[in-house]
Amino acid sequence: MSTVWHQARRAARMNPSIIREILKVTEKPGVLSMAGGLPSADTFPVEALKSACDAVLSKNAKEALQYAASEGFAPLREWVAAKVAELGIRASADQVLITNGSQQGLDLVGKVLCDAGAPVAVETPTYLGALQAFTPYEPIFTSLASDGEGVRPEAFARLPHDAPGTRFAYLLPNYQNPTGRVMSAARREAVVAAARQAGVPIVEDNPYGDLWFDEPPPPALSSLWPEGSLYLGSFSKVLTPGFRLGYIVAPSELYPKLLQAKQAADLHTPGFNQRVVHEVIKNGFLDQHVPSIRARYKANRDAMAAALQQHLPAGCEWQSPQGGMFFWIRLPEGFDAMALLESAVQAGIAYVPGAAFYAHQPDPRTLRLSFVTLTPDLITEGVAILGRVLKDALVGVAEPTP
Ligand code: PMP
Repeated sequence: MSTVWHQARRAARMNPSIIREILKVTEKPGVLSMAGGLPSADTFPVEALKSACDAVLSKNAKEALQYAASEGFAPLREWVAAKVAELGIRASADQVLITNGSQQGLDLVGKVLCDAGAPVAVETPTYLGALQAFTPYEPIFTSLASDGEGVRPEAFARLPHDAPGTRFAYLLPNYQNPTGRVMSAARREAVVAAARQAGVPIVEDNPYGDLWFDEPPPPALSSLWPEGSLYLGSFSKVLTPGFRLGYIVAPSELYPKLLQAKQAADLHTPGFNQRVVHEVIKNGFLDQHVPSIRARYKANRDAMAAALQQHLPAGCEWQSPQGGMFFWIRLPEGFDAMALLESAVQAGIAYVPGAAFYAHQPDPRTLRLSFVTLTPDLITEGVAILGRVLKDALVGVAEPTP
């Protein structure tokens, strides 16, 4: 007799990431991909990581290779507490939980804070990976009205009425994925005041905050409302995503539950990885390393800004990002970025259609372009191809109906 597997209700809600699916099609030889949000591999500090691996294995092999504390490696937790203090967040190392990337942090947040039918508020659009992480816990998403500076403060005023019991608002104040937008200091204050007024705590996700180009972003949302905020950080964009290291800084009241969720998930983040990364960064390595990433990404941003200006047809809209990794483009009326992807890939370029980043009512005219994976020359070439694809499609869109 064949076995019949009965899947959990939450399994039915799990979806393949559209980005991963698109990457399978687009990361083909010969296609210039601006789709994946992959940091430039040329920024990975290979030599520093090699010597740190060696140092850890020479000095602390037994501890590094043994099971370890679920909270994380104590010196790394201390380092994180000092790091977030620079963003205005006053937290002790006891509030730091080291995670397998901030993506795991999002999953733990979902596990601890979401319930079937309980509302969770998100930006419009928002990070697709967070929608993916929260969805199996069956929240009802509320899309908060947003503009070029992020979420609008007045969107919170309706929450107690429209979505009573909202568990948290998931916010990305710095160089948001997918739009690249950043919240001004005034917007941050207004948003935190409005969230407080509505009694809605904030989950702040900040993997891109260090990747600023001309000036650092304003202080973290969590610095403005410490007891009502939970902060997520990552080493993926400043060091390497391959070590899968991120962290949660949680209010003391939530910490024990997040820790229990972490224990159940994987006992702890690999101790070897934590020690190696700590060995690399403990004496200020990032103070020289991150500025070199910023300079490289700024040059790439400039190349993409110039190419977009030159090659995109009239009617396309975008803002030049002040940091991070992404341009967010809105195509003219009548375009559908998903429908165009196939011809774009045929022509030799790839992007991510924006629709996947919306919890509700996707805008089919949007698309995301990463400017950090390709070199400036290839960015220029890729955007020129995109321009041609759009101009060809424009003929179709503009064709008078018989
Ligand atoms: N949050 C955002 C907004 C992201 O863009 C990403 C990575 N693309 C993550 C979290 C997860 O990053 P990681 O798990 O590598 O820290």
